[in-house]
Amino acid sequence: SNKRLLGKTAVITGGGSGIGRAISLLFAKEGAFVHILELNTERADMLTDEIQASGGQAQAHVCDVSNQQSVLEVMARINTVDILVNNAGIAHVGDVEHTNETDFDRIYTVNVKGAYNMLYAVVPRMKKQGAGAILNMASIAALVGITDRFAYSTSKGAIYAMTLSIARDYLHHGIRCNSISPARVHTPFVDGFIAKNYPGQEAEMFEKLSKTQPIGRMAQPDEIASMALFLCSDEAGFITGNDYPVDGGFVKL
Ligand code: NAD
Repeated sequence: SNKRLLGKTAVITGGGSGIGRAISLLFAKEGAFVHILELNTERADMLTDEIQASGGQAQAHVCDVSNQQSVLEVMARINTVDILVNNAGIAHVGDVEHTNETDFDRIYTVNVKGAYNMLYAVVPRMKKQGAGAILNMASIAALVGITDRFAYSTSKGAIYAMTLSIARDYLHHGIRCNSISPARVHTPFVDGFIAKNYPGQEAEMFEKLSKTQPIGRMAQPDEIASMALFLCSDEAGFITGNDYPVDGGFVKL
């Protein structure tokens, strides 16, 4: 078989929607056993059924990554973890003047503490195995700052630093850690945002958002998943402690 993740076990947080969903589908197709950790049970169950129906292996777990108890309970049911994808994340719109304490805490609790909770649970077993690949979902917001995204951008900056910290501390334990920084990706989140805020002008708004990307369109979730696959596979054995923008030119052009 030429499957690229054959025999590997992957844990993917927020694996039920958007980018996480595309990663779950691709990793399963490439032979991995995929554990989908999701707040949204329905989404995770439907995706698990879909993966199994096409001959893949997957299991859904209800989990709130921001809650350490919840993470430890779920991880106690999973043995080996070869690959961890810290993908679960939420967004918030507002500059610092429009970010109250509740907003700030909510974003940091999910995006930053959620990633920490997963690392705290998974890194010890990867260390014991002497092998592991970790992928964190950052954002171009971490690299350039995005207008009106104070809490979100800074939380993704923390994710970027977590990538460096983990990569450095476990460099000699066979654990690689990298991150991806996507520009805008066409996920259900984007459609929902447009439908809610611009009813009747969906097509125009979609065009407008697409034009804010240097390449002239948003990414498809699959275009993030293909980079995730490469970074989590053994083909990327020499790659650790770096961030990879998948951004249609956003950062540099
Ligand atoms: P999405 O909202 O479509 O999916 C995120 C999933 O995470 C959802 O299924 C949700 O139920 C789950 N989730 C949320 N909070 C959770 C929690 N506490 N515990 C467990 N699961 C939880 O989002 P997406 O657009 O696919 O984004 C995925 C990641 O990529 C996020 O970290 C996001 O910040 C990042 N990102 C997205 C874009 C974009 O344009 N969509 C761009 C750059 C970075």
